[in-house]
Parts: sequence; structure tokens; C-alpha cells
Amino acid sequence: MPTREHIDQKPTSEQRSELAAQDTRDDDDRVATTPNGAYTGGYAYHELNEDGDIVCGGHSEGRFVEVTRAEAKRTGKTPCGKCEWILGRKQK
Ligand SMILES: [Zn+2]
Repeated sequence: MPTREHIDQKPTSEQRSELAAQDTRDDDDRVATTPNGAYTGGYAYHELNEDGDIVCGGHSEGRFVEVTRAEAKRTGKTPCGKCEWILGRKQK
């Protein structure tokens, strides 16, 4: 089992803006993020599925706020790698 430390290693702000710039999905999509400074990290934004659930699990229920992708990028968030991995795996 990989350690959380490894998975959740925080990217630098340069890496964050790079990753966000590479996210070409619809800026009007709803994504879930944590307020800056939240103990969960507060730097990533997560994809939502059709049911409005966080794709990678939503282990911090109640701590997330929904924003648009554009808003998440503007506030310095980066796409969640776990969500992308899961969605990538599910694509046909
Ligand atoms: Zn996620």
C-alpha cells in the first residue's frame, strides 16, 4: 500500500499552475475543492461524477466546496491526480 505522503506530496506553485494550464476540460464544469489552508491540503480540485460525488472517494466529506473549474484554476488549485487517474482508467 503506497503511503499517503507519497500520493499527496504537494506540488510547488509552479507545478500547480503548469498542471492547471494542461487541464483543457470545460472551465464551466463543477469541481470540488477545499478552502485554502484546510488540513486536507487545500491545493487540489477534484472531479465530480454524475451523482455529484467526488471521483477519488471524497474521504473528507463536508470539507469540500463546489466551484467551477475556472474558479479553481484562478485560485491556484491543481487537478487531483487520483481523480484523473481513475477517470483515465474508466475511459473506453
Ligand atoms: Zn480527487
